[in-house]
Amino acid sequence: MAENNRVPADLFEVDWGKAVSATLIDEVLATGKYDLFTITHNETSTGVMNPVIEIAEVAGKYPDIVYCLDAVSSMGGTKIEVDKLGVDICITSTQKALGLPPGMSVCSFSRKAIERAKNVPHRGYYLDLLAIYDYIQKKDYQYPSTPSLSHMFAMDYQLDRILSEGLEGRFTRHLDMAELVREWAREKFELFADEKHLSNTLTCISNNRGIDVAALNKELGNRGFQISNGYGKLKDKTFRIAHMAERSPDEIKELLDNIDDILFS
Ligand SMILES: *Cc1c(COP(=O)(O)O)cnc(C)c1O
Repeated sequence: MAENNRVPADLFEVDWGKAVSATLIDEVLATGKYDLFTITHNETSTGVMNPVIEIAEVAGKYPDIVYCLDAVSSMGGTKIEVDKLGVDICITSTQKALGLPPGMSVCSFSRKAIERAKNVPHRGYYLDLLAIYDYIQKKDYQYPSTPSLSHMFAMDYQLDRILSEGLEGRFTRHLDMAELVREWAREKFELFADEKHLSNTLTCISNNRGIDVAALNKELGNRGFQISNGYGKLKDKTFRIAHMAERSPDEIKELLDNIDDILFS
């Protein structure tokens, strides 16, 4: 994305299924070359949840560097305390753990991010942080362009539901669902991601039995369920089970029972 916007950037990768380590971030930031770094909180393709608490300790050593976090598939399913973690810009989207239709993006940004944006020419139009920030301050939360009001009404409704479940309760439910899937996967297959950094919102499973993932998903579809094949180069080598948003542990059990019935009975 940075390159598409002609922002000079370097890409640092870890092996798929491994987490981004705080040490790697420390090494990279210590070069003094960077104004900003961005990481993905929850790797939707591999089922890794990166260690943001350890990363926060490292990020704290570099107060001049803006820290951006992609929390698209984790926000709403697990605790993300942006201020405690030192995250300057945290972005998410409606269609994953928040359980709404796709089409609106939500972010928080720090005062530091706003100050730093002032040094950036060509900030674009629709997503110019400064323009948006100025506008919502002056105009009583108006927005400079016409927003997706239908999403905003849906979000208002959904946030009330989330609060009535309770944040801790919601996060615990996600963990409970994750544990059901992990336990099943360890018994029947193998987990793809590093055991120390498993995602609470989806599980990526190694297809070590060589099952036909598309055929499984088709039969699941007939029964009212759906899982995901592996992403990109992991297609057919892995498959993924999402356990996020409004799903319940009972529904996850029902899904796993159906998979067992299709594959093993
Ligand atoms: C789904 C996802 C995205 C992409 O979101 P879009 O709204 O489809 O652009 C980005 N990052 C992560 C971690 C995701 O899971």
